[in-house]
Amino acid sequence: MNYSDLDNEIKDLIKGKIEINKPMKKYTSFKVGGKADIVAAVDQIDQLKKLIAYLKENNIPYFVIGNGTNLLIKDEGIRGVIIKLSGSFKKILITGQTIQAGAGVTLNKLLEMSIKYNLSGLEFTTGIPGSVGGSLLMNAGIKGCSIGGVVDWVKVLSPEMKEVILKAKEIKFYYRESNLSQYIILEAGFSLEKSSRKAILERIKLYQERRTSINFPNAGSIFKNPLGRFAGELIEKAGLKGYSIGDAQVFPGHANFIQNIGRAKAKDILLLIDKIKETVQAQFGVNLELEIKVVGDN
Ligand SMILES: Cc1cc2nc3c(=O)[nH]c(=O)nc-3n(C[C@H](O)[C@H](O)[C@H](O)COP(=O)(O)OP(=O)(O)OC[C@H]3O[C@@H](n4cnc5c(N)ncnc54)[C@H](O)[C@@H]3O)c2cc1C
Repeated sequence: MNYSDLDNEIKDLIKGKIEINKPMKKYTSFKVGGKADIVAAVDQIDQLKKLIAYLKENNIPYFVIGNGTNLLIKDEGIRGVIIKLSGSFKKILITGQTIQAGAGVTLNKLLEMSIKYNLSGLEFTTGIPGSVGGSLLMNAGIKGCSIGGVVDWVKVLSPEMKEVILKAKEIKFYYRESNLSQYIILEAGFSLEKSSRKAILERIKLYQERRTSINFPNAGSIFKNPLGRFAGELIEKAGLKGYSIGDAQVFPGHANFIQNIGRAKAKDILLLIDKIKETVQAQFGVNLELEIKVVGDN
């Protein structure tokens, strides 16, 4: 079912931009993905509530997208409405040692503000291209640090359409996962430590040195590291570094990344994922689990 003729109804509910039949490659760091019926930028909480109520009432599927940096959207696209939190969801408020940030704020911006106000605790997020909302849902981080470890509270819209503030200890944060997927994340508060600009910049530099540099479109690590092992090492040992299907290639610099070296289709990336999983399972008996989220129609 195509929902693109809904735009007029939605225009009455929200003030943000509405796009019809938009290729999702525009919204994802992988630069792949078929069309979404509607992409709606929502600026305010009351508009978000109205929109969700309408979509639920009419059984119209919806999907909240952040910066699209952990997503593989299928070539057939997504039916229904893609919701992008904009406007007031991009606000940042700093009070003492606390930063309050809307779900649409990028981690990059959050880190920039923490540097500006000499606040330490977010240095490890350097180079993670997600939004606050997507990063909390994914519990984004690096070895030893993740966003769930520095967040103080998260404000969400519950399935019952209530705004609820969850204290960090009420939320379950796992390795690149959380139990927040039942909610729409609205904003979050981070309690940070006072530090000097120099010390913060030095820590950021150390984290940057540990990061993989990759130029082609990608979605970061494809697989979670299995317990006690590294996915990239297993894929490399399986001889798949540089292996490609169509324009989807196992990044020669780090085998847990897949890069889109031209016009890769989601199908190519999915075939490459299957190939990697089968080879690693056959050679090492390890079942690699996806870190990225695959979404869209079949
Ligand atoms: C070059 C590169 C490097 C990366 N490095 C890292 C890294 O070091 N560590 C790491 O952990 N990740 C890394 N990633 C992956 C990615 O950046 C993180 O997972 C990031 O947190 C995802 O945020 P996003 O806003 O892009 O989410 P999206 O990809 O847009 O969405 C991810 C999930 O979050 C959901 N979501 C988004 N916003 C909301 C919201 N407001 N409410 C409810 N659900 C929401 C979506 O529905 C989806 O299920 C990297 C990616 C790239 C491309």
